[in-house]
Amino acid sequence: MIRINSLDLRGSVCDGPGLRTVLFLQGCQRRCPNCHNPETWDSESGRLIPILDLAARIRIEAPTRRLTISGGEPLEQTVGVLALLNELSDFDLALYTGYELEEVPPSILRRLDWIKVGSFDIHHRTTTTPFIGSGNQRFLSTRDELVLLDD
Ligand code: SF4
Repeated sequence: MIRINSLDLRGSVCDGPGLRTVLFLQGCQRRCPNCHNPETWDSESGRLIPILDLAARIRIEAPTRRLTISGGEPLEQTVGVLALLNELSDFDLALYTGYELEEVPPSILRRLDWIKVGSFDIHHRTTTTPFIGSGNQRFLSTRDELVLLDD
């Protein structure tokens, strides 16, 4: 099971390369000041959905086969996220987390194509750098990062 806030099937060009479906998970304990999605903080609200049902819906309704998992904080549901990533392993997969790269479990990192790391900081807000909200954050190709991690 995984607890979700919403599934945006309209397609976004702001959450990673290409036109992407965005899954907003429910629950975040980080409480960053000026968070854009405070409605995703409460880990008791939203909807609990079986992983296989969610994966099947995304597979049918995400024609570009590009998925970004956002939040909330996806790393507060690592078991469910890992299971979903495994079900959609043929997709182009991105994950947005407030944690730093070194804090991301390698089991999840290895199943991603892209990752955004770092908490939103309004004092370093940017509207020009692709796919991030503040300059302290990084949007990375996991292929590049895994080469570095393996060294
Ligand atoms: S990690 Fe993301 S969802 Fe959580 S409080 Fe920070 S900006 Fe909001």
